[in-house]
Amino acid sequence: MIDPKKDKNNQAPDSRLWTIWLWMFILVALLFFGPDLIQPFKPSEITWTRFSHDLLENNYVDRLEVVNKEEVMVYLTNQALERTEYQKLSPAGPQFYFTIGSVERFEEKLAAIQTRLDDPQPVDIKYTTQQDWFLTIFSWLLPLFFIVLLFYLLSRRRPGGTGGLNPFDFGKSKVEVYNTKQKMPSFDDVAGLESAKVEVREIVEFLKNPESYTTLGAKIPRGIMLVGPPGTGKTLLAKAVAGEAKVPFFSLSGSEFVEMFVGVGASRVRDLFRKAKEKAPSIIFIDEIDAVGRSRGSAFSLQSNDERESTLNQLLTEMDGFGENTGVIVLAATNRPDILDKALLRPGRFDRHIYLELPSQSERIEIFKVHMRRLKLGSNINMEELAAQTPGFSGADIANICNESALIAARKGATEILQQDFRDAIDRVIGGLERKGKIISEKEKKIVAYHEAGHATVSWFLTDADELMKVTIVPRGKSLGAAWYLPEEHAILTRSQLMATLCVALGGRAAEEITFAEVSTGALDDLEKVTKQAFTIISYYGMSEHLQNMSFYDSTGRYEQSLQKPYSEATAQIIDDEVKGLINTAYEKVKSILLEHQEQMNELAELLLEKELVQREDLERIFGKRKKNINKDNSALAATT
Ligand code: ADP
Repeated sequence: MIDPKKDKNNQAPDSRLWTIWLWMFILVALLFFGPDLIQPFKPSEITWTRFSHDLLENNYVDRLEVVNKEEVMVYLTNQALERTEYQKLSPAGPQFYFTIGSVERFEEKLAAIQTRLDDPQPVDIKYTTQQDWFLTIFSWLLPLFFIVLLFYLLSRRRPGGTGGLNPFDFGKSKVEVYNTKQKMPSFDDVAGLESAKVEVREIVEFLKNPESYTTLGAKIPRGIMLVGPPGTGKTLLAKAVAGEAKVPFFSLSGSEFVEMFVGVGASRVRDLFRKAKEKAPSIIFIDEIDAVGRSRGSAFSLQSNDERESTLNQLLTEMDGFGENTGVIVLAATNRPDILDKALLRPGRFDRHIYLELPSQSERIEIFKVHMRRLKLGSNINMEELAAQTPGFSGADIANICNESALIAARKGATEILQQDFRDAIDRVIGGLERKGKIISEKEKKIVAYHEAGHATVSWFLTDADELMKVTIVPRGKSLGAAWYLPEEHAILTRSQLMATLCVALGGRAAEEITFAEVSTGALDDLEKVTKQAFTIISYYGMSEHLQNMSFYDSTGRYEQSLQKPYSEATAQIIDDEVKGLINTAYEKVKSILLEHQEQMNELAELLLEKELVQREDLERIFGKRKKNINKDNSALAATT
């Protein structure tokens, strides 16, 4: 707690602001009234006619002073000043002034009048240049004053610490700092990831007890790269290391290094390392390091980013700069290690890599357990079933499902979360929110029903396709209907499995063609998937007749932004032909399956129109038992819409 009495800064800003306002007021007042204070008698303005007629023609003018070629000051003769009408004027003069267009014209007019006079008295004319000091000073002072005021206000809005709006803080890192007093996750909060945990445990031991390593002459790695798809718990693991070792944790995202201002990135890196060293032993965590660490001068960096390169160089320098056992360990996370600059991965930098995979089924159970700890659960929760239904889900997805299920239960006004809430949450995460109220016409509903029945029929009769669980025409997210599958988790896929997914995706469109002799736009998503998949089969997996065993896949991502394709025009043509051929073959196959089982497909479509949701039992009744062993342990829900 800060004692307000002791903290001078607590009061100061307001009173300082008042002083600034006061000074500003004085300055503005001086600007307007200053000249009058210094020169109490101001000459009065006079017109040229009155000047020539009343003064010049009567020989009352002693001398004239042309100031800055703009104004003429008139000094009267002593004789004139004795006259009653001019007695009140300042004797020192000037008594009058008038403005002129140009000096030449003024001289001409003056000479003309004097030649007209019978007895012209000589009039002295003096030319002077005068500076208006007030204006000059104020034209400098005022902008300066406002700049200072602006800086002051900006710095005041900062709540303290790093970051904020202080313009002097640009070069400082927007680093999130967790000190040892804050609650950090521990290894208990990280489910699964056992092998990764074993590796990082060593780091924890070192941070806690460096001597036992250094006395033996061991070098602890300075940089550890956590590699894995998004949401697999890289940040969580890094935080858990800091939490377990009870050391400060400095976290920053790679993209925050790279700003539009040149030099900011490098200075942020310096600042980050300086802070971490001050608090050593400590951990620096750089998320999305690929934002800074992309390989320099690679083909795809068309927009050569000098700023990024200088930031990366600074990072390399800092990593080299700190001695072996300074106690600062840098953890970095990326899901694209292949595009990182090789210099970053050299020994002494990020030479240790820890791979985090998407969780397996048993790991998903563990993750569910961790996230269910804080939920109020009903008695019927079956985590095995939930884990089985979520293959390919990351830890972050599962955390999201847990939260979603709580929201669903709360919306129903329930006091605890039931298994069905989790199932709904999974459906929702996969397919989006159910929109029962969405109004679609009877005709459209019929198209959707036959479309979905098409997907379902094809998947049922293709043994390589995924297991069908249910079909629905309740709109969800942006789709109007969906067939839900339990796909198996595969490490590799065969050509027939890939072809089966292609066929199932085409089932909707083919059903429409067969039933209505006309197709609709409803198959857009399917067709997008089909085209991409066909392209992948041909050009990545080398599974075509004419481009056998060739892959144009580039794991380094270099071609991603390059304008040139890694193959010739002729090859491009072959790829196009092969893709077309593949899709056509699949489509013909799908049509033949549907024609063969048209009656069953129609029955399913009619049932869908009646019930909106058709479950596995009804599917089996319509189609008969499916010819395939179901490996339920390793399967999950997915949908074709
Ligand atoms: P990444 O940095 O890999 O993108 P995060 O570490 O930010 O992923 O993970 C996001 C969230 O997902 C975490 O805050 C946590 O709630 C959850 N999560 C991810 N992996 C796990 C895991 N293995 N155990 C428990 N929760 C996890």
